[in-house]
Amino acid sequence: MNPTSCDLLVLGARQVLTLDSGEPMPPAASRLQDCRVVEGGGLAVQDGKILALGMDAELEAGFSAKEVLRLQGGVVVPGFVDAHTHPAFAVGRAEEFDWRAQGMGYVEIAEKGGGILSSVRAVRAVSEPTLGATVAGHFRRMLAHGTTTCEAKSGYGLSTESELKSLRAIEAAAKETGMQVRSTFLGGHMVPEEYRDRPDAYVDLLCQESLPAVAEAGLATAADVYIEGHAFDLKRSRRYLERAKELGFRLRVHAEQFENLGGAAMAVSLGADCADHLEALDPAGIQAMAESGKTFAGLLPAVPHFLRQNVDAPARALLEADVPYFVATDFNPGTCFCLSIPEALHFARVRLRFSALEALAGATVYAAHSLGLGTRKGRLAPGWDADFLVLDLPDYHHLGYAFGENPVAQVFVGGKATLV
Ligand SMILES: [Zn+2]
Repeated sequence: MNPTSCDLLVLGARQVLTLDSGEPMPPAASRLQDCRVVEGGGLAVQDGKILALGMDAELEAGFSAKEVLRLQGGVVVPGFVDAHTHPAFAVGRAEEFDWRAQGMGYVEIAEKGGGILSSVRAVRAVSEPTLGATVAGHFRRMLAHGTTTCEAKSGYGLSTESELKSLRAIEAAAKETGMQVRSTFLGGHMVPEEYRDRPDAYVDLLCQESLPAVAEAGLATAADVYIEGHAFDLKRSRRYLERAKELGFRLRVHAEQFENLGGAAMAVSLGADCADHLEALDPAGIQAMAESGKTFAGLLPAVPHFLRQNVDAPARALLEADVPYFVATDFNPGTCFCLSIPEALHFARVRLRFSALEALAGATVYAAHSLGLGTRKGRLAPGWDADFLVLDLPDYHHLGYAFGENPVAQVFVGGKATLV
């Protein structure tokens, strides 16, 4: 039989982690070990898609490739999908890190002129091209750490005009860098200064002007709100989310980070794709998420570390209750200045007590499903996009074991090597 022609053949990997169980839906966390692992092999790529996976000998016999990449070991995994990031900021907030070290909390930092509203002042002042160049810089560093697809939130503009500017900057940065992006409108991040004493009027603005403008421009697939005492209470959040849903947005929420307000249960009741943070989630919230089985728990385990909190999301209880989950960075300038998925996976393994497979699935197959991309991304299987990484690790158990270094040696997006 004549060999099939293909664009690229990758051979010689020590392991290829497919995260694929052969079923359309992702495997339950308890069944991850059933996903195929190719020991000593690689994959074939054609037209940006994966054509086949297998041992070196079968691939060499079955395919004739325009280009052959011979690895000397290493672990091949799907490109990371970071399902929770805030890259549309203009400058970092490193000075707050000193204030935090001096013992100041989130609210005190905000009162001292730091916090989200200081990022808002900077984003409002910056030009769209400059913001786009800054976001592109973030995307390049994310790609270098293995993130080939990310969810990217606006939320540091908090006026219709500067939110649209942020979303356009994200779109331009994606185009420039090759990062594959799902944009989320986070107009409900915080009440801006000019509405400080009139939070309901700001929700009116979001519902009547900002959400319709973003929908009209087609700049975001989802809308997000920060449900927290110092941001948006449950009632205002619901009004915003219901309006967003009416306009055709998918819903993602920040819930139960510091206080248990019932945000996760509300997210479930509105059919949201995810409720993220959850460090303060109570057993009733876990039960609500388990009963639905559709709203993902967005786990952001580097955040409590960065905030010097001695609390973590109840991740093992969520897994035991079969709640779908993902693991993400929450990359942002104030509460988690980390864009590295390998680092987030380390925190997932240490603080959430995840196995290597549970952590990896959280930032690949599960994250892709939470973004509605599960039939194209997040696993290595014939027909899926050829987004994959070569990790310089002896075997996959080393993922998240080493920390403070980047194991990503090569990055492929749609079958094309991306410079890292
Ligand atoms: Zn966030």
